[in-house]
Amino acid sequence: MTDYPPAFTELVEALRQLPSVGPRSAERHALFLLQADAAVSERLAAAVTKARTEIHPCRHCGFYAQGADSLCSICSSPQRDSSLWCVVEQPSDVIKLEKSNFFRGLYHVLGGRLSPLDKIGPEDLSIAKMEQRLAEAPPQEAVLALAADAEGETTALYLAPILKKAGVKVSRLAMGLPAGGGLEYADSVTLGYALSGRREL
Ligand SMILES: [Zn+2]
Repeated sequence: MTDYPPAFTELVEALRQLPSVGPRSAERHALFLLQADAAVSERLAAAVTKARTEIHPCRHCGFYAQGADSLCSICSSPQRDSSLWCVVEQPSDVIKLEKSNFFRGLYHVLGGRLSPLDKIGPEDLSIAKMEQRLAEAPPQEAVLALAADAEGETTALYLAPILKKAGVKVSRLAMGLPAGGGLEYADSVTLGYALSGRREL
C-alpha cells in the first residue's frame, strides 16, 4: 500500500499537535500547504519562528512583550493607573480584560493557578516575581481575576495574605464567571460587570 512520503507524515503529525486539529484536518492543512503557493508556507514558517524568537514575557507583569527583557505595551504606557493591579492566570486573560475596556490598571500574570492534584505549587507560578514588584512599587488595590472554581479559590487564598502584608487592598471579581471555567469563557460584558462589582477579600 502506497502512503504519503515520510516528510508529509511528519508535517501531519506536527499539525496534529495544535489544539482542535484532528487527523483529518491535519491532513487537509498539510495538503493545502503543499499545493498553495510556496510563499504561503514560507510566511507561516517565518511567522512562527519570529514569534517564538521575539516574544518574551514582560519583565514586570509577565504578559507578552516583543524583545527579551522588555516591557509590554501596558506596563510601558503612561496612561495606565499603577495604583491598581489585576492578577490573572494567563496572558490570554489580559487580552480578555482589555477588550472589556473596564480596566485601566496594570496586570500580573501568574502563568497558571495552584493545583495540588497536578503538583503545581507556588514555585511554579510567578509569585516570587509578584513579591518583588510589591517590594518595589506596590499598588493600592489588587483585583484577583482568577477562575471561579476550587483551584482559583485556592490560588486566591494563597495570594491574598501576601498582597495584604504589602499593604494592598485585595478584591476578587464578582461572581458571574462561568463555574469551572477560566476567564477565556467569559464575554466582555460579563467581565465588565464582574470587575465593577468586585468584592473585597
Ligand atoms: Zn507588562
